[in-house]
Formats: sequence, structure tokens, C-alpha cells
Amino acid sequence: MTKTVRADVAIVGAGIVGLSTAWRLQQAGKRVAVLERGIIGAEASGRNGSGVRQQGRVLPEMPLARAAIRLWGGLDAELGRPTGYRRNGHLYVAETNAEMDRLVAMREAELPTGLVTELIGPNRVKELAPGITDAIVGAKYCPEDGSADASTATTAIAAAAEEAGAQIFCHQPAVEMLVEQGRMVGVASKDIRIEAPIVLIAAGPWSPYVAQLADVYLPIYPSRAVLMRTEALPPVATPFVQTASMDMAVLQLADGTVRMGAAADAADYTRFTYDKSLAGPIEAQPRPARAITVFPALAEARLVGMWAGIRECTPDMMPILGPVVGPEGLLVAAGFSGHGFALGPLAGRLMSDWIVKGDPGMDLSAFAYRRFLRREGPLSVVQLRVEQTG
Ligand SMILES: Cc1cc2nc3c(=O)[nH]c(=O)nc-3n(C[C@H](O)[C@H](O)[C@H](O)COP(=O)(O)OP(=O)(O)OC[C@H]3O[C@@H](n4cnc5c(N)ncnc54)[C@H](O)[C@@H]3O)c2cc1C
Repeated sequence: MTKTVRADVAIVGAGIVGLSTAWRLQQAGKRVAVLERGIIGAEASGRNGSGVRQQGRVLPEMPLARAAIRLWGGLDAELGRPTGYRRNGHLYVAETNAEMDRLVAMREAELPTGLVTELIGPNRVKELAPGITDAIVGAKYCPEDGSADASTATTAIAAAAEEAGAQIFCHQPAVEMLVEQGRMVGVASKDIRIEAPIVLIAAGPWSPYVAQLADVYLPIYPSRAVLMRTEALPPVATPFVQTASMDMAVLQLADGTVRMGAAADAADYTRFTYDKSLAGPIEAQPRPARAITVFPALAEARLVGMWAGIRECTPDMMPILGPVVGPEGLLVAAGFSGHGFALGPLAGRLMSDWIVKGDPGMDLSAFAYRRFLRREGPLSVVQLRVEQTG
């Protein structure tokens, strides 16, 4: 028998974005019910690289990245639980002079946003990352950036949301949007009918399928990424390290284990990639050669884990935040394009303020759904990609 739940806001998706929104809304006195297809935080929010950074973000997104860092700084205290957040810094390393020039230009472009980063030479790089190759030319360092623990942080936010009164229904995929006379009146799974005048889609890469239930097209496409984890090692690097060419990422966690992004499909977020060489058991994996080139200290390390996750990308690699052109009361917070762990807790606050106060408190016009609209209707992802590349 279907159970009916009445709420002020229904949320689809219990990833870091949906959960953060639920928590903030409950704190603001709203009743929230969440439908989750699987279990809490089991998709990208619990599997990501755990990076919480500002540098390298596309410039329109920088105000969000900067506000997110401020929020992370007080998040453990607000939640009353640890998230694993550390300001351990973020390093972009250059292997050639041309790459260093690009980092210098990136720094210049970021300065007007208020982000001040340091250009450092090989000796300082070695101090920060003792396991790194001697072949590094220099680096761009942001000491304010850092990392958290993806799964710990997401479950901490879920626990806080539930403690504040949010109802989270797991194993309940949304299969029907309830729309009456052009307005949202709820959302339903097979077993649960949530009656609510506001519905937020926060279903990561699956958001388009959920939006489609209300005849709304969302230009978000999935992109797979693979991470590997080594056994605990002596100090390899304190900051989160990425190559300037963005084809490798390494983070040593507080317990000494090292997480690394596999090169094969880490580099190009904009392509529909599926590299079969990275599927299958760990034993069958080729050594993550790129990481070893940059960190020879990893050459002998034993891999103890490998997993993949699905990022949710938009054509301009920026999220869609706010109302859609569709039924009144339907909102979206999705399409974070690989940045959603860092931005998730802030997105929750913005969406909650938008719903409760009618004002997110920041200019979110760059993230409006409307940017993808044309007079004839929204362009498809494929059309948009052709427009951008062609
Ligand atoms: C390998 C990897 C590394 C990454 N590294 C970083 C990083 O270092 N820093 C960073 O900031 N970001 C990173 N990201 C991106 C980041 O993880 C995501 O942007 C973020 O987690 C998105 O959160 P979300 O809540 O929007 O979506 P998700 O975590 O994908 O959650 C969406 C939820 O919706 C649920 N759902 C789907 N369909 C339905 C339905 N019909 N009904 C109900 N529920 C549904 C899903 O089950 C899921 O739980 C990485 C991602 C991956 C995969």
C-alpha cells in the first residue's frame, strides 16, 4: 500500500546536495521528505576524490567556491560531527615551462576574484610533497584549499538532517512527478507519495530522468571517473596535488593511504568516455602510470582499492541551480560537473535560503536553467556541444 507523507519540500536524491538542502531546510523550520533510489551518499557524494578547492575553478563559479571554503571551515562545528575537512592546501604542479606559464596566467585571472595563490619553485614543492619527482618545474599553491572525507562528510550531513527531522526514504526511486494545473504538488515512488508544493531535483547524473517525469529537459550527462587507493605510506604529499594538465590527482589521507585519480578518463570531462581497460578486478589493472611518473614514491605501493563513480556534467561545466522553466515549484540543484562535493554544503544553504526567504543570498544568475534555453526550446547536450566546439 502506498504511504502518503506531507511535507513543505520534497527532495529527490540523497547525495551531498540533497542532504545539505534537507538539513538547512529543517533547521529553518520546514518539513522535508527525501526520496533516495538507493542508499544515502552511495553515488558520487560518497566516492569522490574529496577535494575541496577554489583554484582552477571556472571564473563565474569562483564566488561559489570561495563561499564554500568559508562554510567548510565551520561545518564540523555546525554539524556536531567530523567531516574529515582539512585545509591541507592544493597544488597544481607544472612539468614544463609552458605549463608554468599557464599557471601564472591562471593566477592572474583569479586575482580579481580575491583568490590569492602562491607561485612556488621546486624546493618548496618538495617540502610540500616529498614523494614527488625532481622533474617538477614549479607549482601554483593555494594554502586555503583542502580536502574532506567524502563518505564521512556525506553521512555526517545525512545524520544532522535526520536529527533535525528530515525524513529520508531509501530504496525509493522517484517514478512520478505530481503536477496539477502547472504546479508541483509532490513526487512519488512506488511505495511513498510525498505531497509537497516544492520539489527539488538533486539526483546528480540521473537528474534528467527525474526531470523528464515532469516533461522538463535537463542538459546533464554522465561522465565516469575512477579512483584507486594504496596501502598506508610514509609522507608523499600534504596538499591535494594535481598536474597542470589535469590528467592526474593525488591525495594522501590522514591515515597515510593515498588516493589517486586514474589518468585514462580523468582528463577530459567533456567527452562521453568509458575506458574498458579500467573495468574489472584490481589485480588486472595496469599500474596507474601517470601517477607514478609524477610520484615515483608510488611505484612500489600496493593498491588496496579501486572504484568508479559518475560525475554529472553540463555543457558549460557549471551547475544548474534554481527553478526550471516548467511546473511552478520545481527546482533543480544538479550538474556540478565534478565540483559538487566542495560546493554541496553551500548549494544546500543557497537552495534552502531560496526556498525559505525567496533569495539565495548570492547572485546565481550564471547558474540559471535559462542559460540553456533557445526560442525553440532547450538545446540538447549534443547540440550544445556542437555549438561550443564548432
Ligand atoms: C570519482 C569522482 C571524483 C570526484 N572528485 C571530486 C572532488 O575531488 N571534489 C569535488 O568537489 N567533487 C568531486 N566529484 C564530484 C562530486 O562527487 C559530485 O559533483 C557530487 O557528489 C554531486 O552530488 P549530488 O548530491 O548532486 O549527486 P550524487 O552524489 O550523484 O547523488 C544523487 C543521488 O540521487 C539518487 N537518485 C538518482 N535517481 C533517483 C531517483 N529516480 N529517485 C530517487 N533518488 C535518485 C542517487 O541514487 C544518488 O544517491 C567527483 C566525482 C567522482 C565520481
